[in-house]
Amino acid sequence: MMKRIYLDAGHGGTDPGAVGYVVERDVAIKVVKAMKAHLEENYSCMIYMDITDDSTSNIAKRANKWLAHLFVAVHFNAFKPEKGDGYEALVHSVANTELGKCFEKHVKAAGQNSRGVKYRPDLNVLRLTKMPAILNEIAFVDTKKDIKDWDEDHELKKMGIALAEAAAEWLDLPAKEEKYKVLQDMNFRKTASLNGEQLGVIKKGTILKGTVDKNGWLQTVHGGKTGFVRQKGEKVYCQKV
Ligand SMILES: [Zn+2]
Repeated sequence: MMKRIYLDAGHGGTDPGAVGYVVERDVAIKVVKAMKAHLEENYSCMIYMDITDDSTSNIAKRANKWLAHLFVAVHFNAFKPEKGDGYEALVHSVANTELGKCFEKHVKAAGQNSRGVKYRPDLNVLRLTKMPAILNEIAFVDTKKDIKDWDEDHELKKMGIALAEAAAEWLDLPAKEEKYKVLQDMNFRKTASLNGEQLGVIKKGTILKGTVDKNGWLQTVHGGKTGFVRQKGEKVYCQKV
């Protein structure tokens, strides 16, 4: 079954959220859009992007009705000017700690410092959602040294990609299948290795569907068997079509 991810950009309508060096609502929408784009481009999944003006009451209801497998809200924080610093992963309770840690790991890898995973059973979107839910507080809009790394479009895109990768890891999303044309006769192997047992030969011109791993092996089904063919090495053997 295809996994369903509900993305919510915090606040909306007449509520801009926190205002500091940037407006929370504006930057949250950019992060959520980048997150959606990255997930749809790279993974097999369904996305519900909530950037409506409705800021509070119906979000959890909509996510429940849509039968989301994961709820991800994106917010930016504010405290006392120049006092707050870093990311926070807000989850309902201890049971959601691993979810929070997964997002925190990817956010830290993107270069943002973290204040940790916090439990917030009082927050509506965490309390009323029936699926695992996380509310990300990316950075403090009222602290210059914190928000300066996350106020430009390319930085917000980077954060969106980090959150997308966290969701993909946590839900174990399958990579999106692409089509490839075989450019020369190729060995079809049982494992992703030049020493892998040979299952047969795939003829030049064959169109294969599958996903390529980081080492350049295409996992595909051919002749009723699941196996691997080299997509690229010193050169491209199977061209994306
Ligand atoms: Zn907020």
